[in-house]
Parts: sequence; C-alpha cells; structure tokens
Amino acid sequence: MSFEIKEKDLLGRIGKLKTKSGAVETPLLYPVINPSIQLVTPRRLKETFGFEAIITNAYILKKRFGDKVVDEGLHKFLDFDGAIMTDSGAYQILVYGGVEVSQKEIVAYQEGIGSDVATMLDIPTGWKITTEQAEVTVAETLRRAKAFFKTKTRDDILWVGPVQGGRHLDLVASSAVEMGKLPFQIHALGSPTEVMESYRYDVLAEMILTAKKGLPIERPLHLFGAGHPAMFSLAVALGCDLFDSAAYVLYARENRYMTENGTFRLNELDYFPCDCPRCVAETPRGLEIKPKKEQEVFLAEHNLYVCQAEIRRIKQAIRDGRLWEHTEMRVHGHPALLSALKKMRNHADFLENYSPTVKSSGFFYFDSVGLVRPEITHYRKRLSERYDPPTSAKILFLVPQTRNKPFHKAPEFKKIRQLFRSLGELSEKIHICVYAAPFGVVPLELDEVYPLSQHELALPLDLETVDYVANQTAEYIKRSSYTGVVLLDDPKLWKDTIKKACRSACKTKGLDFDSVDADVAGSKEILARLANIFREQLGE
Ligand SMILES: [Zn+2]
Repeated sequence: MSFEIKEKDLLGRIGKLKTKSGAVETPLLYPVINPSIQLVTPRRLKETFGFEAIITNAYILKKRFGDKVVDEGLHKFLDFDGAIMTDSGAYQILVYGGVEVSQKEIVAYQEGIGSDVATMLDIPTGWKITTEQAEVTVAETLRRAKAFFKTKTRDDILWVGPVQGGRHLDLVASSAVEMGKLPFQIHALGSPTEVMESYRYDVLAEMILTAKKGLPIERPLHLFGAGHPAMFSLAVALGCDLFDSAAYVLYARENRYMTENGTFRLNELDYFPCDCPRCVAETPRGLEIKPKKEQEVFLAEHNLYVCQAEIRRIKQAIRDGRLWEHTEMRVHGHPALLSALKKMRNHADFLENYSPTVKSSGFFYFDSVGLVRPEITHYRKRLSERYDPPTSAKILFLVPQTRNKPFHKAPEFKKIRQLFRSLGELSEKIHICVYAAPFGVVPLELDEVYPLSQHELALPLDLETVDYVANQTAEYIKRSSYTGVVLLDDPKLWKDTIKKACRSACKTKGLDFDSVDADVAGSKEILARLANIFREQLGE
C-alpha cells in the first residue's frame, strides 16, 4: 500500500504517501512549478519553505525541453530531490481544446523523466457543456484509463486516475465507480477550476462528495487547481488529501496578497496581517516602491508561507478532532464557502460512517450549520436503533436542558428529585429525559455518554436547531411505548415549538399529554401540579 492513514476527522485524514523519492505527509500541497519561469526555485521551496513535493506539467516539459529532461532526469532538471508530480496536459485540453500528444507518448514521457506521481491523459469535462458532451468526456477518459494499463511500464510510479463528469453528479458518480475499479494508486477530481472561478463551491462540494462515495475510500484524492488557503479546510473536510497551487504565483503577479480568510490587493493594505519572515521585515508602502519583480517574489513567498501555515493548522485540527470547528471558522470568510459546508447536510450519513464520533475533547455548537456533525448524526442513529427505555417506564417526563452538564448534576434537578421522593414507588414508572440542543431527547441515565455532556452551545438557539430538537423529540415519542407524556416546558428558549411537537405526536399515538410551564409560577406550585398530573396519568 502506498498510502497509510494515521489520523482521521470528518473525511479528512493525516496520511503517509510513499513515493519512490520518499514519503510525504498528507494533507499535502504541491506548489506548481513552471519550468520556464520560476519566481521561487524548487530548491528554495524545499529548503526554506519545507515543501516536500512539487507539481509540474509533463506536456509543457515535453514541448519545450523534450529529451533534455529524459536525459537529465526530472529531479536533476528541476533541482529538487523531493517528490515530483506531473500533470499530463489535460488542463491544456480544457483551455486550448486539444494537445499535440497522444496518451501513449505522454505516459512514456513521464516514465522516461522519472516522475514520482504521474497522470494519465484524461479528457476534462469543463463547466459550460451539455450532458451529452459531458458523457463523452467520461466515456473517453474511462476508455483511455483502460488502455493506459496496457501501455504503462513502470510500477514504481504512483498513477493518478482522474474522475470526470463536472457538475453532472450522476456522471461523476459513475465515473468514480468505474475509475475506482482500476488499480490507480491516487484519484483526482478532474478540472474543477472553472467551478471555483465562478465561486460555485456548493457545486464543488457535491462533486467531491459524489466522487468520494464512488471511489475506494482508502485511496488518496487530489483536487486539481485548489490553491487558495481559505478553502483548504473545506476541501480536506470533504475528503481531499492532495492539492496543487499555481495561485501563489498567479496572485503575486496581480499584486494579490493571500490570507487564510480571503485576499487583499497590495494597495488596499496599510498593515500586513501576517507574521511570516517576509511580512515582519516590510510594510505595504515600502513594498510598493520596490521594483515589480521584487514585489512579485515577495508576494509569492508570503502566499506560500500562508498556504503552508494553513496546512499545518488543518493537520493539528485533525489530530485534535476539531476539523469541524476549524472549517466552520474558515467558511465564514466567504458566503460561497459557507453554502458549500451547508451542502454537507445531504451527506450526513456518509460523513458519520467514516468519521470518528468519539473524541478526547468536547465540541462547540454555534448554529444549525453544525447539525450535520457526525457526532450528532451518530447519536440520532444510536438512539433510534439501539435504545430502549427502562421496562418499568410508563410516563415520559421531558425536562428542558440545563446550563450545567451533566444535566442530572445541575441544581434544577434537586427539586425534581424532591418531587420523585414525594411520589414514592410511583416514581419508578416515570422516565426522565432531557430535551436538549443539538441532540433531541437525552435519557437522563445516558447524559454522561460522549458527547451529551461534552459540548458548548451558543444561546439563544436558531430556529432550525429548535425545529430539529422538536422533530427529534416527536420522533422519539412516536417510536416509544409510553402511555403518556408530561412536558416541563421552557418557552423562553423554545417558544411553543416543543409543546406543539409533543402534543401532535401524542395525538397521533393516542397518548395522554400534559405540559407545565417551568417559569409561570413559583416552584412549589409547579411541583404540586406535576405530582397531580403524574398521579392522574397513572390512574392513582
Ligand atoms: Zn506574510
């Protein structure tokens, strides 16, 4: 196996990819090297910035330098002793409509120059084309992929099998399944550049998740052309392991300064919001009066530092089980990124299947965007599939969440325990559950199970979260076999949502239903009313 997964969170993972020039750690960013113009040399990328791998274009190398690269070897030619990936010219097909090379030639060339990771010559789908045209690109890429395995001769190279289909998700799905059957070591999502340029990150997220579902999950996935640090976290959370960036140079040429939250133009900045070695020694005004070439190198190097730092933060977030929090923070840098994270809601089960759901630290719940978190899906499934209330339970007593956790240790429960003592043996027929965001019903005896006590909430809750808890509560009532439900309502936090949901569920099942507002009267009166309700419902 060329890829070994060490740590996981969401669909992101820290892994070790073994190439013939040494192992590299993922998530990994390959800076794109233009062999003709190098603002930052490959040697400097490794020695100063710590990049273990770079990517360059085999088609351009072949056209401009031909056999010179075969004779010298790619590593000597670029003066880089780390892992080198080569792309095949598919991007040129997308931009120029074709390339003057056959797949057989470009595969042989990549073998000849000694690429560590190399790409077959796929046909990119692109963005503005019909379904019929998209079908052709998928079919032709698959045909070429099958032919490729008959012509390649080197097994020490990791070969990349791109998935095509563009925004046509059914095509992406079938492309992923078929390409995944072939023995590629790495897969890639073909040419998403135009999707990103038009800020359709929501479409991109669907494309990535659709591809992930069809591909063998243990193989790494490369996202071509994803070069902005603001989106790395989202792409990693969706399951991308490898990226390449030409953006650090392209942005530098246009005086654009990357940050992990977005982009500035040099003339907009009065201060550099960065601690990289270049930024601490310069000011925006000072840089503006330097020669153009020096400005470009400065910006390219700053951009690289920012990208590298963001990759390190993402790795640490994966280790800490906090990739969701990190991604939520980043996607708030642009509405299009947040829209993409919201799209994960359609894939909650897939996410939960592959993500760790028990962690060493608690989580932060900000708003309903977080409802897709695997910990929440996991709890929902466990409760509905594996939980049965105590057999003695006749009445479901629903109590609002408390600020203190675990709930049963909160001061509010002192009075409830007092009430239960006064009820004597009857209390065994009453099952206490808490209704709590962002989970729904939490049986009190489970409230110390992860993550029911290990999370922090932002209050007041948003409407979608309130609705989710109300729906989950109604579902719980509908599938259980209590004879009645008593709700201690907390309208300050929940308005009338929980009451309505409970009443309707009880009506459907023909159960007794009573509710008491927790805050309308003094506590003594509430306790007396509750005691009466319990006795009445139990027929005592
Ligand atoms: Zn900087």
